Amino acid sequence: MIIAIDGPAASGKSTAARSLAKRLGITFLDTGAMYRAVTLDVLRRDVDPTDAAACTAVAEAIEISFDVEGRILIGGAPGEPEVRSEAVNRRVSEVAAHSGVRRAMVAVQRRIGEQASAGASGDLRGVVAEGRDMTSVVFPDADLKVFLVASPRERARRRAEEEGHPERAAEYEADLARRDEYDSTREDSPLVEVEGALRLETDELTPEQVLQRLIEEVEALRG
Ligand code: C5P
Repeated sequence: MIIAIDGPAASGKSTAARSLAKRLGITFLDTGAMYRAVTLDVLRRDVDPTDAAACTAVAEAIEISFDVEGRILIGGAPGEPEVRSEAVNRRVSEVAAHSGVRRAMVAVQRRIGEQASAGASGDLRGVVAEGRDMTSVVFPDADLKVFLVASPRERARRRAEEEGHPERAAEYEADLARRDEYDSTREDSPLVEVEGALRLETDELTPEQVLQRLIEEVEALRG
């Protein structure tokens, strides 16, 4: 089973996807972390984030995998917490907009999806993949497609709280708005709401309620 979840920055996708994957006992795939890992490597190597060819070379060479909890590994070493740093936040959308970078990441994402779904056992197998182009480009035939949204203010409040800086919500709101604009207007694989996706507005929902709603959808699919 492939479950694809898209939405703007800090809309609660990771929390929802991670908890759903855990509940179903299937793989969790955080594709934002992959673009963050490439960006971290670009910055570490002093590569110019606007240089498409150089960023593509980094994306093609990087060795990305995930630990059992779904946390990103770069060349086998933990990518957290550096992949969430402000330096990465600032440049990730530019790096992710290069088609060559996307081509390299999408190939890895589809391979993980196939591996997670393969096998003849009676157990449920599959992946919950979250990002910006899971429903539109990477897994357009997903069994379940979800578009998660929340207001800019609420997303910034949650992100600031997560980071332990509730007083910095306004700053986070500006960063999220800048990334959303970039991610929604880029040429290759912009963030779009595809037809047929379940739209969930989460301002008024707790993470547990979001999870519950998704489980109901999966149960309906499984009959
Ligand atoms: O989801 P997260 O905020 O960690 O994603 C970081 C950035 O990676 C996004 O702002 C976007 O530029 C990029 N991204 C993407 N395609 C995806 C996932 C993330 O372009 N599937």
